[in-house]
Amino acid sequence: MIYITITTVVLLLLNIYCSAASQKIFYQNKEASMLEKAQLAASEIGALDVISPATAAETLAQLSSLKTSRLIVTDHAGIIIHDSYAPETVGNYALFPAIVDAIQGNDVFVWHYHDGAMRSEAATPVISYGSVVGCVYMMEQDAQQGALVASLNKNILTITVILEVLIIVFSLIFTKIFSTRLGKIMTSMRIIRNGDYSYQVTMGGHDELSFLADEVNNLTQRLQTSESKRRRFVSDASHELKTPLASIELLADSILQNDMDIETIREFVGDIRDEADRLNRMTQKLLDLTRGETAEEDESREIVYITPSVDRVVRMLSSLANTMDITITVDIVCDAPVLMREDDLYRIIFNLVENAIKYNIPGGSVSLTIDRAEEYGILKVQDTGVGIPEDALNHIFERFYRVDKARSRATGGSGLGLAIVRNMLERNQSQIRVESTPGVGSVFTVEFPAFDTEEDDE
Ligand code: ADP
Repeated sequence: MIYITITTVVLLLLNIYCSAASQKIFYQNKEASMLEKAQLAASEIGALDVISPATAAETLAQLSSLKTSRLIVTDHAGIIIHDSYAPETVGNYALFPAIVDAIQGNDVFVWHYHDGAMRSEAATPVISYGSVVGCVYMMEQDAQQGALVASLNKNILTITVILEVLIIVFSLIFTKIFSTRLGKIMTSMRIIRNGDYSYQVTMGGHDELSFLADEVNNLTQRLQTSESKRRRFVSDASHELKTPLASIELLADSILQNDMDIETIREFVGDIRDEADRLNRMTQKLLDLTRGETAEEDESREIVYITPSVDRVVRMLSSLANTMDITITVDIVCDAPVLMREDDLYRIIFNLVENAIKYNIPGGSVSLTIDRAEEYGILKVQDTGVGIPEDALNHIFERFYRVDKARSRATGGSGLGLAIVRNMLERNQSQIRVESTPGVGSVFTVEFPAFDTEEDDE
């Protein structure tokens, strides 16, 4: 409606302007030609010694160019001396405003459009020896020019109406198409809001609306992916939590239903405690994982060195290593400052070293190397353990994935450690590589983003 109103006003103004401009062109042409004729007649009459009806008529008769509808000559008082249209008016007062004005010494031109004809009047004073002795008045009734002006106005009006109709029709069509397409997006939003993340909007064209539809489709795809991830996570997690819970239930039932000696009961309660421990560790890891998945990238990253975290991990895991008779060695080639969350750095190293111990063989070793490449601080965790088969290498970073379920369970594994590592690496813009030979051992190489202090050192 706003669009239609604006165009209507603009067209109306254009219409008025065109019509006024065309009339002005006619007016200016007419004014120049009629005043020229009147002044010619006035100068001839002013040159006469005596201005009488006879002398005026004779003079005017000689001026063949003075073809006009009516020509009146008056004296200085406005009394008609000559009237080409109504000779019987001679002797009367001519009280036309143009004549009154001309007797006062002015050149006058007036113009009106009346009854399909253009009526133009011009009057000029007759001057003899420096004083006004009368006036010449001319009137022309021009039906042809009138018709021209009328037809021009009519044409402009017709064009305006056609344009206006076209604008209204196109506006309506355009609005309809636009609102239908917008409606499609609105409907899809409603469907998606109600939980159908598989819905896709189909929108043709290459305009902003089709881009918007593409964006909506991308968004729903991402929603669908994260929704299916969330569902899988919940079902995996509940499945994993169910196993220790079922064991606890079974052990408790056995104690309740059977007559057992105190030693067996102690043994069963010990098992219950182990299962509860497992549950505890698993829920802690699940919490770490969800926290990692929701954490913002770059959140509170700081400049840290790798060695202190490695030392802490080695201290923490030394008793586990001792129990399994595993030697841990640390080789510092170059300790570069890296840009990391310190807690993440510690947990990454902890999980990798813990695995290197857990999946090792008695009497084996774990060697840690801290080094630096151009843009990275590097940590290598090498073990002499059971290794990982090639087909499992692509899966070890998935949640709940375990190569050897029995062994992992025996060592208290949950299949979440490397998933947590991957999350932490991602949010700290770090990378990991694994090389492994079953029966020989594995090497996990991590690249942390180095913080360049060379300039500061200089
Ligand atoms: P878990 O809690 O079972 O250790 P992780 O996510 O840490 O879970 O590891 C996933 C699986 O990858 C483990 O179950 C194990 O089979 C394998 N794995 C991880 N690290 C090593 C390693 N250093 N040597 C051999 N196997 C490994």
